[in-house]
Amino acid sequence: MTSYLANVTVFDGTKLAAKRGILVEGAAIAWYGPHARPPREARSAHEVPVPLAGVVTPGLIDCHVHLCFDGSPNFVAEASVTQAYAAVKCVRNAGRQLAAGVTTVRDLGGPGFVVCEVGRAIADGLVPGPRVVASGQALTITGGHGWNSFARQVDGPDAVRLAVREQVRAGARSIKIVATGGVLTPGVTVDFTALTAEEVAAAVDEAHTWGVPIAAHAIGRTGIERCVRAGIDSIEHGSQITAAIAKQMVERGTFHVPTISALRGIVDHPEDVPAYAVEKGRQIMDMAKEAFVRSRRAGVRIACGTDAGTPHNPHGSAPQEVVRMVDWGLTPSAALRAATSEAAALLRLPGAGSIAPGMVADLVAWHANPLDDVTSLFTPGAVMAGGIVR
Ligand SMILES: [Zn+2]
Repeated sequence: MTSYLANVTVFDGTKLAAKRGILVEGAAIAWYGPHARPPREARSAHEVPVPLAGVVTPGLIDCHVHLCFDGSPNFVAEASVTQAYAAVKCVRNAGRQLAAGVTTVRDLGGPGFVVCEVGRAIADGLVPGPRVVASGQALTITGGHGWNSFARQVDGPDAVRLAVREQVRAGARSIKIVATGGVLTPGVTVDFTALTAEEVAAAVDEAHTWGVPIAAHAIGRTGIERCVRAGIDSIEHGSQITAAIAKQMVERGTFHVPTISALRGIVDHPEDVPAYAVEKGRQIMDMAKEAFVRSRRAGVRIACGTDAGTPHNPHGSAPQEVVRMVDWGLTPSAALRAATSEAAALLRLPGAGSIAPGMVADLVAWHANPLDDVTSLFTPGAVMAGGIVR
């Protein structure tokens, strides 16, 4: 099918332009340019209705989700279901992402290979959903953060290497390691340094040998530094990024994915989130904000990631994360880049995250201009994924 979006204002992934036209053929953008000079094919194309005064952007990309988790108050309790049940939740949560205007997600850990399989089913057209870049199970040390929820325990460089190979064999197109302690696992402090330098190096080398990006859950300074030195692609959370580390991240092109929504969901809900998690969240909230400001000022590349699936952090929260990044000092334009073109760069998806000929037709029409009012991202007008309006 051929569709045409006529006379629209477009944020193409980096900048805004008015009076544009977008021609979509099949699953891809065939032409993008001034609406005053549309290609001949536009005349016979099906016209996609765009809200009056609306703005079209690439579909949003969330670089950090857990599709098998719903965002209920107790993350560890949620992990106790069977893989079959988790797969059903995964399908439902994928649908919620798409409805919010999120057309690509990277999953950073769930039970077994459930997310790899659901992602495959979405790609095959069995159920609607965003493009899923799965990581399989996250890799953590014995007793490390996530061992009882989203991660698999693995110790020693050779075992880490084997585990990376197993995730890739199962369909993972991203790898996640747990480099430090975390908020949602009892008995492990947030800044605990987990994987050894040799284990981190083995994971990074193996992931890059397969051409997939590798993300590190890293809150404490030593763990963050170890990962950046080893050539990790993104630091998730990054609450103790120092000025010296930020400088190294700029030099190496390492991304910071701040996941502000994860902390807010925990700290703002002491009434039902387990006390150990609220306590640890409070310890790092101010630190996390300072680290984000430090990253931004140093010029570290920033990508949008919500950690959706953690307590009170439901799927489809990328718009909320963009708003929160703006609250913490990012310009609306930079925040939108973090959720489109920059996110695509991190996930190694050169065909997504921008509007240009040849790119995948993942587009969202919003009711108002998010660069004027970033909260307009809360109300998508129309969502197109792979050339089909959902
Ligand atoms: Zn996470």
